[in-house]
Amino acid sequence: MNREGLINKIKKERTLVLIKPDGVERGLVGEIISRFERAGLRIVGLGIVRASKKLMDKHYPKTKAWVENLGNNMLKTAEELKIKIDLKRDYKVNNTYELGLKIREWLINYMCSGPIIKIALEGPHAVQTVRKLVGKTIPSMAEPGTIRGDFSIDSPILANLENRPVKNLIHASGNQQEAEYELKLWFKKDELID
Ligand code: ATP
Ligand code: MG
Repeated sequence: MNREGLINKIKKERTLVLIKPDGVERGLVGEIISRFERAGLRIVGLGIVRASKKLMDKHYPKTKAWVENLGNNMLKTAEELKIKIDLKRDYKVNNTYELGLKIREWLINYMCSGPIIKIALEGPHAVQTVRKLVGKTIPSMAEPGTIRGDFSIDSPILANLENRPVKNLIHASGNQQEAEYELKLWFKKDELID
């Protein structure tokens, strides 16, 4: 890639943000969008949608690694919080993969339970910048100053006992590959501004 191409590529990195039903219900849409704008990210696509199960099933990966990771993260949190859990007794699953599958199912149902806001953002290192502004997945671990740190409170251990996903307001693409796939899934070409 030549110098011009490289400059363009860096300037035009894009990522997808979804404001989940809890964010919309709590009236945090304006606050959340303003944080991205304030940081200097450009909005290149925006909409309100009621997601279908089919769309959400395409959105969340099905790979063994991703699903297992969902379950493993819960165990990690329990360990960090020194809470002893027994997968079989407490969650009626045999392993972290099975737990991950359950969480994925809850997530899909949750994302379809109310309207969500889809936002395409653009700017240098947009993926990483947005993840930084959003904060860590688990609300109690998200730093103050981040969106999740300032506006969410929940526990994955509690959530799983209540058969639901962690409520953390936002989805943000995890890396550039995810971003590319997700932007194509959520926006038609002519819905994105150049
Ligand atoms: P997102 O993909 O939504 O931006 P993330 O990349 O920070 O979040 P992932 O590991 O991709 O986190 O998990 C996807 C979503 O699944 C989380 O945002 C959260 O709502 C939910 N989740 C993650 N871990 C758990 C868990 N142990 N129990 C319940 N829900 C969970
Ligand atoms: Mg993710």
